[in-house]
Amino acid sequence: MNDSNTESPDVVDVVVVGAGVTGLYAVHRLRGLGHSVRGFERGDDVGGVWYWNRYPGARCDVESVDYSYSFDEELQQEWDWSEKYATQPEIVRYLRHVADRFDLRRSYSFGTSVLSAELDEETLRWTVRTDGGEVVSARYCVFAVGCLSSTHVPDIPGVGEFAGATYHTGAWPHEGVDFDGLRVGVIGTGSSGIQAVPLIAEQAAHLTVFQRSANFSIPAGNAPLDEETRRRQKAGYAERRRLSRLSGGGSPHAAHPSATFDVSPEERRAAFEERWELGGVLYSKTFPDQLTDPAANEASRAFWEEKVRALIDDPAVADLLVPTDHPIGTKRIVTDSHYYETFNRDDVTLVSLRENAIERIDATGIVLADGSRVELDAIVFATGFDAMTGAVDRVDVRGRGGRTLKDVWSGGPRTYLGLGVDGFPNLFNLTGAGSPSVMANVVLCAEQHGDWLADCLRHLDEHGYRAIEASPEAVEEWVAQCRDRAAATLFPAANSWYLGANIPGKPRVFMPFIGGFGVYGEIIADVAASGYKGFALIGP
Ligand code: FAD
Ligand code: NAP
Repeated sequence: MNDSNTESPDVVDVVVVGAGVTGLYAVHRLRGLGHSVRGFERGDDVGGVWYWNRYPGARCDVESVDYSYSFDEELQQEWDWSEKYATQPEIVRYLRHVADRFDLRRSYSFGTSVLSAELDEETLRWTVRTDGGEVVSARYCVFAVGCLSSTHVPDIPGVGEFAGATYHTGAWPHEGVDFDGLRVGVIGTGSSGIQAVPLIAEQAAHLTVFQRSANFSIPAGNAPLDEETRRRQKAGYAERRRLSRLSGGGSPHAAHPSATFDVSPEERRAAFEERWELGGVLYSKTFPDQLTDPAANEASRAFWEEKVRALIDDPAVADLLVPTDHPIGTKRIVTDSHYYETFNRDDVTLVSLRENAIERIDATGIVLADGSRVELDAIVFATGFDAMTGAVDRVDVRGRGGRTLKDVWSGGPRTYLGLGVDGFPNLFNLTGAGSPSVMANVVLCAEQHGDWLADCLRHLDEHGYRAIEASPEAVEEWVAQCRDRAAATLFPAANSWYLGANIPGKPRVFMPFIGGFGVYGEIIADVAASGYKGFALIGP
């Protein structure tokens, strides 16, 4: 489908790449300023992550009521979430509703990938080229290409020889998959694998889960939202959003006011219990020192282990499912529904690849290092993404002197505030590396960046500037700040995708800004209020 905006000329003010939560909001804000905007999206419709990740069990891990736009009170009040954590189909319905309500689709060409963006150093305009042969000249080029939109399939020997069906959770068939009666293998036990496993197990004749690293997961405590809860949530939205904007993670739940060992053992246990009941990823922020103090981390881990072991019948299987290689919370804690209980089924087998690695895939299954084989009809790769830089790297972006962004980022992403890069004037990268994005509620991050960008472009126009460009010193300082803030935590101890550790050969650099959503909001607001310190504003 090529739903081009017939009003748009080939010369526009802004090109926006991506129609996920970030791109959609940017289009809305920038059009609202009177800019002509041209959007491009590889998928055939809006939704981004929620368009692509249609695997069984896919749902948000931030409560739906928070994982939704806050910018329009009517939108907030009119939309009814049916569950505490909405499923992928419901989130896609919501994003389609947003697109309809604000007439966003007319700005987009769908089914269209941006291949390149090249700076004209004289005019400081960007020439954007697509796989549909379109060429657009834009004053501003805005990337909203997603941190988790570039799928990763590991290069396992023989992977192409498999005669059965293969799937990746991040590129799931729209028509769905019927696993009924099949022998299925799932490789990967991150959030995607852990969400998919219980539902695939219900369908398949036999499910084998291939686990390289055990992960920390916590039951979601998901439930339908009744009318009274919805009414209360909607009535309390203003305060809920206010608290979220001040918070580290973009949701209204604050950590316990005291450090882990400044409370009695009873109070500590009660706090862990309360967070366990709340469900999911928020457990990693029960106490404020959990991700900086190893002893505090161990206290929360021990409570987690006690809870999880109680869910698993076979202690030998539990031994495999309990992580021993990273502090709890240093990879995103998974928010699951009946994951651990799934291993109590007779028709589900767990293979620890640490004990018995995959040697190769052949026509009928997976061969393990000890020579044994697992016969399969279908393989699901829940093996994640080339996170934070993968989607940007796929585009041939050329700035000053013809330097490519890929080269500039070859040692790890280099940005000022996550938003700008020196040598790439008028190019903005939204909710990506160098910003809190994936460490927080990304919908509110999208609004934070969209609002900052809109204010910035208005400032440029009001003061007669042609362009804005991050200074090399500001980039240097921000890269160091992101690195140093991460180094002061336990995060570097995990081989996570935050560090690029999941992609062979990727530089080990902590890519997000870890200082918290609220703190980051203050920093970028301060930069704007100062007249954009750290950026060069380039005259008419
Ligand atoms: P995306 O949604 O990834 O959208 C980017 C879009 O850009 C994609 O549609 C892609 O097709 C398009 N694109 C990329 N490159 C090009 C190109 N060259 N040309 C044209 N189009 C291009 N975060 C949370 O805060 N809470 C959650 O509960 C949560 N759950 C998640 C569940 C899953 C399964 C995954 C994978 C991620 C989840 N995330 C969650 C993180 C998620 O990335 C963000 O919440 C958010 O949806 C990202 O929105 P985005 O618009 O920034 O990027
Ligand atoms: P992921 O967290 O990177 O997990 C990928 C899994 O595949 C890991 O278990 C990894 O093992 C394994 N793997 C990778 N390469 C492998 C190989 N060569 N052999 C065997 N195993 C291999 O990816 P994801 O699960 O798609 O999640 C990515 C992020 O998306 C999450 O952290 C989260 O932010 C977001 N997400 C959120 C939700 C949600 O609950 N709302 C759902 C899905 C995704 P190792 O750990 O050993 O590398």
